[in-house]
Amino acid sequence: MNTTPRGQRLHIAIFGRRNAGKSSLINALTNQDVAIVSDVPGTTTDPVYKSMEILPLGPVVIIDTAGIDDTGELGELRVRKTMDVFKKADLALLVVDPGQGKDHLEYERGVVARARNENVNVIGVINKADIYGREGHDAGAWSSELGIPCVIVSALKREGIEELKRLIVQSAPKEWTAPTIVGDLIAPGDFVVLVIPIDKAAPKGRLILPQQQVIRDVIESDAVAVMAKERELRHVIENLTRKPRLVITDSSVFLKAAADTPPDVLFTSFSVLFARYKGDLAALVAGVKAVEDLKPGDRVLIAEACTHHAVEDDIGRVKIPRWLRQAAGGEITFDVVSGGNMLPDNLSDYKLVVHCGACMLNRKEMLSRIMQAQEAGVPIVNYGVLMAHIHGVLRRALSPFPAALAALGSEEDEDEAMELELLKRAGGWLAS
Ligand code: SF4
Repeated sequence: MNTTPRGQRLHIAIFGRRNAGKSSLINALTNQDVAIVSDVPGTTTDPVYKSMEILPLGPVVIIDTAGIDDTGELGELRVRKTMDVFKKADLALLVVDPGQGKDHLEYERGVVARARNENVNVIGVINKADIYGREGHDAGAWSSELGIPCVIVSALKREGIEELKRLIVQSAPKEWTAPTIVGDLIAPGDFVVLVIPIDKAAPKGRLILPQQQVIRDVIESDAVAVMAKERELRHVIENLTRKPRLVITDSSVFLKAAADTPPDVLFTSFSVLFARYKGDLAALVAGVKAVEDLKPGDRVLIAEACTHHAVEDDIGRVKIPRWLRQAAGGEITFDVVSGGNMLPDNLSDYKLVVHCGACMLNRKEMLSRIMQAQEAGVPIVNYGVLMAHIHGVLRRALSPFPAALAALGSEEDEDEAMELELLKRAGGWLAS
């Protein structure tokens, strides 16, 4: 992920008085110990840019700024350099040590005002809950005081960090998206074979948007996109001058495409690629494990991001419910929600949320929904990952994504046996 160009990453600037805990916060967000942490005020001098991965946000650039309440000549220079950071930031975190009290917030108000001028959203991170306690520091009161959303955290103990990440997603710019669909998986000159069935479901005379986007991404990465229907896949691979780096298939021909792709070639589907591009692939893969635990009488929520016209044998309303009932060995209650900004409030009533492919949502919206389910303690999976699981090819379809593969756990044999069993049970509709 660190090969992602800096210009395509979300830039998060961290502001705060000296020793408010900025470096500890970076460590907590990235779950590493990368920033310099010191009890001596002013350890950080010039703004430092660090390319990092924050799960589930993906690749970001953290801009670690100097404490800007410095005085004196050197202080003024640092203040100017720090304020220049607003020109590059997509989002700012203002770290506050509540021990300073609310009487002297000139510096904090200055940061908020400057951010407003530059059109940058700011989140107040009220730190050091380990010293002052979460209860004693009301996020709402700090929000009113500073006029920005605030969250109480202990960077040192890494508490309140998930809530902060949710606020980051909500406050990120609308156009924020993952930097690439497939570009980080391939190198210039690689061959990428796209398996595109041309059947009754395919629109006349054109490719669908996800296929167009992947082709564009492959070409932009200076690689070579080769397209074929599932019947021609084997022939195409055999006749390329060298093995393709990656085969990407439509989910409807998973089994045939997997069978015709050599085992040493990376293999995935458009829907798995978009699960990663639009959301958090590892979280959705972890969610699929809940299918094993479904029992008769459970409730499952089918979440569709838009009000589309349901077709006969609709994937979300007919096929997936039919298959999940088979998997559970009895009746399951399905509720369907369509559209809306967020998932319903009663999420904890459900054993599983099955989300659509989210083609009408941006990454920010889909990540918010995933985090909402996680906060309610309900596993969430999407159609693409569930389809790969049903077809018994999920491990194969995750071959390019080791982190997501790890989310499936290490009981490989057990999982594969279960997938085969589920495949047998689902055979009725898979064949259709
Ligand atoms: S996958 Fe796209 S078209 Fe289908 S319900 Fe979701 S947002 Fe709507």
